Amino acid sequence: MQKLSSNGLGLHATHKIENQPSILENYNIYDSDKVLADCIQKSNAEWASDQLQKLGSVLGSSEFIEHGNLANNNKPIFHSHDRHGHRIDQVEYHPSYHQLFKLTVANGIHSDPWANPKSGAHAARAAKLFMTYQVDQGHICPTTMTYGCVPAISRQKEVADTWLPKIFSNEYDGSFRPIAEKSGATVGMAMTEKQGGSDVRSNTSTASPISTSGAGKDYLINGHKWFCSAPMSDAFLMLANTDGGPSCFLVPRWLPSGEKNNIFIQRLKNKLGDHSNASSEIELRDTFGTLIGDEGRGVSIIIEMASLTRVDCCLAAASLMRQGAVQALHYTSQRSAFGALLTEQPIMQKVLADLILESEASTRLAIRLASSYDALDDPFETSFRRIATAASKYWLTKRSIQHTAEAMETLGGIGYVEESILARLYRQAPVNSIWEGSGNVMCLDVLRAMQKEPDSIEALVSELSKSSGMNKHYDKAFEELKKGLLKPALLLSNARVFVEETALLLQSHMMLGQSEDKSGAELFCQTRLTGSGPSTFGRLPDCSHLEGLIQRARVQP
Ligand SMILES: Cc1cc2nc3c(=O)[nH]c(=O)nc-3n(C[C@H](O)[C@H](O)[C@H](O)COP(=O)(O)OP(=O)(O)OC[C@H]3O[C@@H](n4cnc5c(N)ncnc54)[C@H](O)[C@@H]3O)c2cc1C
Repeated sequence: MQKLSSNGLGLHATHKIENQPSILENYNIYDSDKVLADCIQKSNAEWASDQLQKLGSVLGSSEFIEHGNLANNNKPIFHSHDRHGHRIDQVEYHPSYHQLFKLTVANGIHSDPWANPKSGAHAARAAKLFMTYQVDQGHICPTTMTYGCVPAISRQKEVADTWLPKIFSNEYDGSFRPIAEKSGATVGMAMTEKQGGSDVRSNTSTASPISTSGAGKDYLINGHKWFCSAPMSDAFLMLANTDGGPSCFLVPRWLPSGEKNNIFIQRLKNKLGDHSNASSEIELRDTFGTLIGDEGRGVSIIIEMASLTRVDCCLAAASLMRQGAVQALHYTSQRSAFGALLTEQPIMQKVLADLILESEASTRLAIRLASSYDALDDPFETSFRRIATAASKYWLTKRSIQHTAEAMETLGGIGYVEESILARLYRQAPVNSIWEGSGNVMCLDVLRAMQKEPDSIEALVSELSKSSGMNKHYDKAFEELKKGLLKPALLLSNARVFVEETALLLQSHMMLGQSEDKSGAELFCQTRLTGSGPSTFGRLPDCSHLEGLIQRARVQP
């Protein structure tokens, strides 16, 4: 019989493991991100530094990184019935999902700027979301829906009185019980139907008043929703047709009488990514809901919510890029090939520096958009975020797909293996581009704003003018953009080019105006605003600046 091993290490102990970098964990996600700290300072949110540091430390701990892995490796399970055959419509999440959600709610990411409004509150919340999304992406979906629904719910006193105190609570309550028995609540949104998601006016679900019609009155809804993420939310905002047209309803999981509402989960979607989050299909049969706003006002209420959730998509995309860049830097600074560290290899240096530049510009733009809600009623900020949000949602979410792919490649084969977070970031990236308004829909939204809300053009030009005269490529691209802004009707077939250029100018403006790294800002403009725009990462010109860029962005656990 063959001897198993003479050294006691087993059959596979043929070699010493060398040149394998350490796992990145036990680092402070906030302290290690100089760009994020600078954004917080520039958004009047320095008062939140202690909270951000504490959260950054918890999120970067091996314990929470493992929670992120576990929540994604153990997908939610749908239970239609209990063991005795009763319909229960419940989804079971891994305990780590609940741990992550508990941390998020304790930190107010789901509602704090509405519950405790103050200067910099939306920016501080944005930074918290940006950090949390680096560890788990899935539970941020119900977090952002809860945050986005607050202005809509606030419109309707009957609904607001019951729901806002629970939504504003910092206690996470994942139990499946009527709202009166719960210490906290989350709210989902279910708009998309089989026949149309972008075109919500094509909704076929209907709603009829139980007795009288009108804002704040109760209705019964019949129909379906083709995508309903976070089906264990305590309530959902939904669109259904009334005699007055598409209308918005708050639909609770439990009836005021304490019985389960008629929300029948059909199945969970088997998704490319976003694994810790359950996305379901639901049927509505005489389902109880309360009308928010007047009949026929549903679409405008949805649009208000979507502008908030679209900013969160920008934050999410920037977050994926930051985590991708951090992982790439960590790995390549410990991995050698052909006799030198990867960070010292000229081609790799350009890839890394380019990933860092993109991450910085995206972070700055996303936090700028979020902080515009700190001046909620300021007419300039309202007009500014109109075009800027749609253009940024279009571009940052698209760019994060390329960025996560390139970051993954810097790790070579191990980047493609599921144990690495890079594989998860890559699979997550496209969803931010699809939901809350897919790419073409964002382009149409920019054109619509240009045609119907001329103030939004003025505000965009005024904001971008602040960086005029700082860079020749920027000045030239800005002049071209201004010509396009004058003729929105001609732009339809060329909308993607125009919207991309708008977003690139916004990113460049943030870099020129805010980045402490002036050479980095110049490099960004030179490589994004000339020729046919950005292509593969790593096509930077030769310059002495790359090593400094890489060193500054590195994370020291
Ligand atoms: C993981 C996941 C979770 C989701 N969760 C939810 C949820 O919780 N609640 C919810 O309501 N929805 C949810 N959605 C649905 C999502 O919001 C929709 O899929 C999205 O809005 C697109 O709608 P659609 O799928 O019907 O595609 P369509 O509207 O059919 O669009 C298909 C394509 O056509 C393009 N397009 C549309 N109109 C035009 C036009 N006029 N010109 C040119 N191109 C156009 C779009 O950009 C898109 O690329 C989720 C989706 C995913 C992937």
